[in-house]
Amino acid sequence: MLVLLILVVAVALILGVTDIRRNLITKPVFTVFKKILPPLSDTEREAMEAGDVWWDGELFKGKPDWQKLHSFPKPELSAEEQAFMDNQVETLLQMLDDYQIVQEQRDLPKEVWDFVKREGFFAMIIPKAYGGREFSAIANSTIVSRIATRSLTAAVTVMVPNSLGPGELLMHYGTQAQKDFWLPSLANGTDVPCFALTGPEAGSDAGGIPDTGVVCQGEHDGKQVLGIRLNWDKRYITLAPVATVLGLAFKLYDPEKLLGDKQELGITCALIPTSHKGVQIGDRHFPMNMAFMNGTTYGKDVFIPLDWIIGGPDYAGRGWRMLVECLSAGRGISLPALATATGHLAARMTGAYGYVRQQFGMSIGKFEGVQESLARIGGLNYSLEAMRVMTAGAIDMNLSPSVVTAIAKYHMTEMSRTLMNDAFDIHAGRAIQVGPKNYLAHGYMGIPISITVEGANILTRNLMIFGQGATRCHPYVLAELEAAANPDAEQGLKQFDSLLLKHVGFAIGNTFGALWQGLTAGVFNSAPVSGETAKYYKQLTRMSRALALSADVSMLMLGGELKRREMLSARLGDVLSQLYIASAVLKFYEDSGRQQCDLPFVHYSLQRALFEIGRAFDGFFANFPNRVVARVLKTLVFPFGIGYKLPNDEVAIQICEALSKPGVVRDRLTHLCYIGADENDATGLMESAFVAMHNAQPLMKKIYQAQREGKLARKLPLLQTIELAQEAEVITAAEAEQLIKMNTLRFSAISVDSFAAGTLEAMAVKPTDAA
Ligand SMILES: Cc1cc2nc3c(=O)[nH]c(=O)nc-3n(C[C@H](O)[C@H](O)[C@H](O)COP(=O)(O)OP(=O)(O)OC[C@H]3O[C@@H](n4cnc5c(N)ncnc54)[C@H](O)[C@@H]3O)c2cc1C
Repeated sequence: MLVLLILVVAVALILGVTDIRRNLITKPVFTVFKKILPPLSDTEREAMEAGDVWWDGELFKGKPDWQKLHSFPKPELSAEEQAFMDNQVETLLQMLDDYQIVQEQRDLPKEVWDFVKREGFFAMIIPKAYGGREFSAIANSTIVSRIATRSLTAAVTVMVPNSLGPGELLMHYGTQAQKDFWLPSLANGTDVPCFALTGPEAGSDAGGIPDTGVVCQGEHDGKQVLGIRLNWDKRYITLAPVATVLGLAFKLYDPEKLLGDKQELGITCALIPTSHKGVQIGDRHFPMNMAFMNGTTYGKDVFIPLDWIIGGPDYAGRGWRMLVECLSAGRGISLPALATATGHLAARMTGAYGYVRQQFGMSIGKFEGVQESLARIGGLNYSLEAMRVMTAGAIDMNLSPSVVTAIAKYHMTEMSRTLMNDAFDIHAGRAIQVGPKNYLAHGYMGIPISITVEGANILTRNLMIFGQGATRCHPYVLAELEAAANPDAEQGLKQFDSLLLKHVGFAIGNTFGALWQGLTAGVFNSAPVSGETAKYYKQLTRMSRALALSADVSMLMLGGELKRREMLSARLGDVLSQLYIASAVLKFYEDSGRQQCDLPFVHYSLQRALFEIGRAFDGFFANFPNRVVARVLKTLVFPFGIGYKLPNDEVAIQICEALSKPGVVRDRLTHLCYIGADENDATGLMESAFVAMHNAQPLMKKIYQAQREGKLARKLPLLQTIELAQEAEVITAAEAEQLIKMNTLRFSAISVDSFAAGTLEAMAVKPTDAA
């Protein structure tokens, strides 16, 4: 006991006396820290420094301030944005026939192109001063999402000019002259932009593009000017086949030092009219049979003047930073909007189909096996909408939260993949036969595109969410890295010294906090609300503490190696992501006015998030290389085992009930889904059949009652039963007519398209080199 006391006093003294502490403790720790530092490339450093830390930082601290979460403004459309939704967007939706667009024309009809350009669909992010719409992120997201439930091709076409590309880059970095020149024509659709970064040799590793620009003298507009000689070869570029202005990323070299001392300036972005001499727009690609424009562009020794660099010559070599700073806006709006559209469409249509389609004498939606899948669609759809709204809300707060948007991009597209598979399983053959009646097929085909673009998913999960997230969101690590990189070693040591003390305090707090919360299962944690959701806040606080502790221990034990151990670090990223998803759901529930009927969806989403957190931790502990440390950590965090379970069956059944009957809950939770006005449209047909079958229930009950009483024969085909029921005066003539109409709709809704012999064979499309 006495020894312990002396030790505590000695440590306190050392920590209290700055010089002793600095020399005895900080200096050796600093030396080790520098050795185990994850090696950072310039591009990684820039990516890490770009953007903002937001709610992700709270989740990483181990003690999220839930009041802060609730105080973020509720994202809402302005009156002007709502009017655009009600008018221009609805008109556009009625102009779209996705089967014709994708399977017949393989392009949007001319009148659709004209309409979207004229009505400012390409100008949602451009300020009004330049003729743009200047819409909020939530409006941009809601518009793209609603269009995507009708036509993915139209949604991608509209989304791209409003995402990372010439418009966004010009607004942030363009010179006044560039803005004045380009923004008005981009806003009114005279110019159509594309942005070319990817090439055959550089996809995910975009920092490694081989495309070059060399600073030199050349001729432009009949004069000798300082400029750049460009060589590029790009592929997969959306809108390239129809673009009039090409945003091009290349590496800039200045061998003759015409701009300054540096010969390798780095990635640079320029805007080039596609009509400029030497610019080649190549062939179209055919991405998953979709009809949006996507293709190649290349150029050999193309000369452009220096002031075509976005931002002018001052921005030579600053392209990578510009791209990563702007990436999160697009990544947090566009892909989440597409994923949510999939959720709204699948939830609404699958709920209806589960009721309309009958097998073994009952609606398939009544079978528990089908309900398990339908509940997953409903639960994920709720999480998707919550994340879409919260993430767009952050962008509307003028933030550029890079980790949060990477979480949204990865998890939302993966959720949409899961729920689309469920929708396909439930629709079975009805979803597989392509044709005008199939409202799911194109959405399903488009999912791998969402998974691949704006940071392919494996990379996003493994490298970005935790790899960058841990360093960025951790309250001290980024500052410690900066201290280590300080060229003034003494100054660096000073900075590190003050950080180290705080970091040690943080780590000790997390260790004891995690143990206490593990032992008490977090029941003494505070929650900002009472009622059914309070328990979730407590568990999330507990898991946030566990994440802070595990992340610290991993960084300490593995250092730079952690970056290479992607399987390990990604699991911690999954914990952070699920904490974000769960926070978004809780906030959405509060912002929606705590609707009681939403509770099954909230329970499902939260239970699923906690289960995924438990699963991620389980994998992390099982694979952590130091087994002793792994066991100690697991015991601290889960002394009685990981108790989180998948959502329970009762909650699943409640979700299915809500999705299987017409009403305000279903309408609200699938509000983005386009429903055709009548049965001549695929979604309109399914909805009409669904409603007709519900409305016919009282009549069907009369028939069943008569059958039970022996007044009507059983097991006859429905049409015959209706006829007999009318003859037996069980139902009136008008009621019989209603039932016959219902049956016609039902049969039409379960029907699929077919093609005359020879038609499909004639649809062959050959690639250029096979032609
Ligand atoms: C339809 C479509 C539209 C597109 N539009 C544009 C556009 O307009 N402009 C533009 O510039 N680009 C565009 N792209 C390109 C898109 O951004 C790239 O496809 C994407 O960056 C991935 O590159 P890649 O396909 O070459 O895959 P690769 O880079 O070859 O990656 C293959 C796999 O390896 C994984 N991977 C790579 N590195 C790592 C790592 N370090 N850790 C873990 N996993 C890793 C990836 O996640 C992926 O799963 C588009 C692509 C498509 C398909």
